[in-house]
Amino acid sequence: MAIEALVREFEQVAANPQAQLKKYKEAGKKCIGVMPYYAPEELVYAAGMMPFGMWGSNKKTISRAKEYCATFYCTIAQLDLEMLLDGTMDLLDGVITPTICDTLRPMSQNIRVAMSEKLPCIFLAHPQYRKPEFGMKFCHDQYTHIRTELEKIKGSAIADADISEAIRVYNKSRAARRAFVKLASEHCDVITATKRAAVLKASWFMGKDEYTEKLEALNAELSALPVCNWKGTKVVTSGIICDNPTLLKIFEDNNIAIAADDVAHESRAFRVDADETGDPMTALCRQFAEQDYDVLLYDEASNKNRRGEFVAQMVKDSGAQGLVLFMQQFCDPEEMEYPYLKKALEAADVPHIKLGIDQQMRDFGQAATAIQAFADVLEMRK
Ligand code: SF4
Repeated sequence: MAIEALVREFEQVAANPQAQLKKYKEAGKKCIGVMPYYAPEELVYAAGMMPFGMWGSNKKTISRAKEYCATFYCTIAQLDLEMLLDGTMDLLDGVITPTICDTLRPMSQNIRVAMSEKLPCIFLAHPQYRKPEFGMKFCHDQYTHIRTELEKIKGSAIADADISEAIRVYNKSRAARRAFVKLASEHCDVITATKRAAVLKASWFMGKDEYTEKLEALNAELSALPVCNWKGTKVVTSGIICDNPTLLKIFEDNNIAIAADDVAHESRAFRVDADETGDPMTALCRQFAEQDYDVLLYDEASNKNRRGEFVAQMVKDSGAQGLVLFMQQFCDPEEMEYPYLKKALEAADVPHIKLGIDQQMRDFGQAATAIQAFADVLEMRK
C-alpha cells in the first residue's frame, strides 16, 4: 500500500509539471528552466532556486514555435520553445540553454530572440574535449558564467560552501535513483515500465531533497519485498527519452519489463557523481568530463563512440534478453550513430529493435506490432 501511495505521488508530479512550477513559485522559490543536457543543476540549487527540467511534452502540439524553428528540429527542442511561448512556463525566472547538439545550438539563439524581453536566457557551451586541462578550463569558464548569471537573478553571490552542499544533495539523489533502477528490475511485477518512467521523470520537477526522501522511502519498501519471479522477458532501453505511458503500456501488455536503461532522460543523467571534496566548481567540471558512452559527447578515450559495447554489456549484466532503441525523430546524433550501434549489438549477439518516436506521436499501431514481434524473439532467448 505504501508503495502504491508513493508511486502515485510520483505519477501525479510527472503528469502535471506545471502544477509543480506553480507550487514552488507560491512557496517563494525562484525557478530556473533547465534544458537538456548536462547542465550543472547543482548551481541552481546552491542559489536557493528550483531547477526545472525541460524535456518537451507529450501533451502539447507545436504551433507558435514553428515561427522560429526549422521543420527538421526534434520535437523536444520545439516543444520547449512552445511551452515558453504559450505561457506554460511563464512562471520561470530564467532558462539555461545547453548547446550540445546541432539543434540545441541554434535553438538557444531562437529562445533568446523569442524570449529576450521576458526571460533571462543563460547560454551554456560545453567543451568538446572534456578531459584535458584546457577542456576543464573551458568548462570552468562556462560554469562560472552560469554562476554569475544565476547570481544576477538571485540578487546576491552563491557561496562555494552552498555549491559543496548542493553536490552532496545531488549525489545522494543520484545514488537513490541508481538504487531504484536496480530495485525496479528486481520488482518489475510491481514497478511496471510506466511506473518506472513516472518515478524517474518526477525527479526533473521536484526539489531534490523532497524527491530523494520519497524515493528512499520507496526503495526501502521495495527492498523489503522478495525478488519477483518474473515469467516475462526483460530489455535494456536506450535513447534520448521515452516517457510516453501509452507506448510503455505496450511493453507491459507484452510482458516485457525494463531491466536497465541507457536513456538520456533517465540513467545517463545520474550515472556520474561529483567529488564532494575540494573546489566544488572543479568537481562539477570533472563530473562532466567523466561522462562517457554518450553519442552526444566526443569520446576522447577511443576516438569513436563506445556506446554500442557499453549497452551490449549492460544487457548481459542486467539479465535482459535484448535492447530497445527509442530513436527520437530528427535527432541527427542518434540517427548517425545507429549503424555503429547496430554493428556492436550484432557482434555481441544482442537482439534489438529500433522504434522511431517523438512527442507528437499519437498513433501507436506500428510500434505495437513491432514490440509484439520482438517479444516473441526475446521469449526464445530466455
Ligand atoms: S533529441 Fe537529439 S536533436 Fe533533439 S535536442 Fe536531443 S540530441 Fe539534440
